[in-house]
Amino acid sequence: MTLPHNIYIHVPFCISKCNYCAFFSHACAKPDWEKYTAGIIGEIDHWAEMLGKFDVPTVFFGGGTPSLLPTKYFAQIIEHLHSKFNIVNNAEITLESNPGTLDTARLDEFIKYGANRLSIGVQSFDDDELAFLGRRHNAYTARKLIDSALARQIRVSADFIYGLPGHNANKVENLCKQINNTGLSHCSMYELTIEPSTPFGKMNLTMPTNNEMADMYTAIQNTLNLPRYEVSNYANPDNECRHNQNIWDGDAYIGLGTAAAGRVFMNNVWYEQLGGGVKFEPITNDARAIEKVITGLRTMRGVLLAKDVKNVLNMEYAKEHNELVQINDERMRATDNGILVLDDLLVNLIR
Ligand code: SF4
Repeated sequence: MTLPHNIYIHVPFCISKCNYCAFFSHACAKPDWEKYTAGIIGEIDHWAEMLGKFDVPTVFFGGGTPSLLPTKYFAQIIEHLHSKFNIVNNAEITLESNPGTLDTARLDEFIKYGANRLSIGVQSFDDDELAFLGRRHNAYTARKLIDSALARQIRVSADFIYGLPGHNANKVENLCKQINNTGLSHCSMYELTIEPSTPFGKMNLTMPTNNEMADMYTAIQNTLNLPRYEVSNYANPDNECRHNQNIWDGDAYIGLGTAAAGRVFMNNVWYEQLGGGVKFEPITNDARAIEKVITGLRTMRGVLLAKDVKNVLNMEYAKEHNELVQINDERMRATDNGILVLDDLLVNLIR
């Protein structure tokens, strides 16, 4: 019997590259959508041959800019998934999108073909900041897409970036107040990190200090109306991203498309997909358990202390440092203090 597998589909095309972006995506005026879709369909066939017909609780189209995908190809992929796997009732099907790439007619088509959750890359409500980040949209277009999506029977999330040069706790508080006014029930707040390979990496920017970043992080927690359920993610109860939650919990997932990662469970062995496609290699149970600790401790519900997880943890350290981690109901959670020093905490916790 094959375990359920979540499905991640990578769409690596964007209209242009943003100044901070180190994701696997490239600017491409006219992607060969037919060829790319045929590749994904071939990968679906491959996994169906390898694993048989398994349950699929979530499908996530990420990128890149998946909302550029012509809807007929989105429909083909969804239909093919249904034909090969058991997409469970009420499966969560998320489409990542960028404002300016999705008018209401196309949004309605994506919904008609199965999308029931839209994640919008808003990043900022300040036009100067959006230009600085290299985004192609302005705040008005972003607000319009949020409003259109919220008016439909789907779940809606938006991504924002904080910690830009010149940002401080007050600015981030203002951003959070604006987010509260949108009526969103899920948002992701990502700290700007400068990757050397990006335009920002070559600009010698003056970034906020660690203390200022910690103040901004606290300002978000104190101002947003949505509870934090993961280091960078906030949602009302039952509005969390189920796809990400499943993956953070250590459930199996398959990546489809160029550079898509996956963790596949086959014949009692965990496999790591090597950059998408159909290449994969086994990983040890300990390596898999360590991944679960790393992702689980970023969540407010913590990591389930199953046998494999306990095997890789220094439980004595955990018991002696309950100001950093706490154990309840068979789960280990990082405290607020623990989350602020999570990287160091993980070094001490993992054997
Ligand atoms: S739209 Fe997203 S994936 Fe594309 S370049 Fe910008 S940040 Fe990167």
